[in-house]
Amino acid sequence: MAIELFSFPFIALLGASAGSVVNVLLWRIPIMLEQPHNRDFNLCLPRSHCPLCKAPVAWYYNVPVLGWLLLKGRTACCLQPLAWRYVLTELSLAAISLWLACLLTSQVLLAAGVLLSALLAALLLTDLQHMLLPDMLTQPLLWSGLLLALSGAGPVSLELALAGAVTGYLALWLLYWVVLLVRNKEGMGHGDFKLLAALGAWCGWQMLPFILLGAALLTLVFMLVAHAMNQRSLHQAVPFGPGLAVSGWLGWLQAVHLPFFW
Ligand SMILES: [Zn+2]
Repeated sequence: MAIELFSFPFIALLGASAGSVVNVLLWRIPIMLEQPHNRDFNLCLPRSHCPLCKAPVAWYYNVPVLGWLLLKGRTACCLQPLAWRYVLTELSLAAISLWLACLLTSQVLLAAGVLLSALLAALLLTDLQHMLLPDMLTQPLLWSGLLLALSGAGPVSLELALAGAVTGYLALWLLYWVVLLVRNKEGMGHGDFKLLAALGAWCGWQMLPFILLGAALLTLVFMLVAHAMNQRSLHQAVPFGPGLAVSGWLGWLQAVHLPFFW
């Protein structure tokens, strides 16, 4: 069943809310990993507060995009400028969700696409900022991909998804050990294996060579652009997660759009 036009405002709100959740994950997960024994800090606690003066934030300021507009880009408590990236993440996820609604034909696929986009956005930004691909994000991504395949509503069968998860993990695990034995250094983090395993579950094993190739090209372009802009040296470690996230997202769209291709 095609997605009705009248549901588009609702879809935009759903996407913006997903962007708002991404902002929460991006801020809270690295702190949770730094303080694993702190029971007072998790995804919900302490309640939403100003990052600068710690004053609690009223619920209506947490409404995606609208809250930012009400505040005119400044905190209500201490009137400091709010980072643009919060509202940009919300607007981007809203735009992606609307675009997916035009592209996809079923509501299940649309919900799956929004979930995939939000989890990949959180992984991309966390890896860029902290060089981290937390299990708290890669595990839900893996399980949701397998569940979508199990439901029969996704672009690949459960067999292809399972083979994708195992092959994705093993491919980078093997590469990691080859690099470690030959060059005596760690070529990538374990989070990269888990992310490729999850992408294998979403896209099926046949898509993995394309995802890896796309990720390698994107990472190379990122390195060269960052070097040209004098942002980093070519010898500095580069996160592989952002390339994998973008390439995997495109791979899933390809799998959804062209199921007969395989
Ligand atoms: Zn404040």
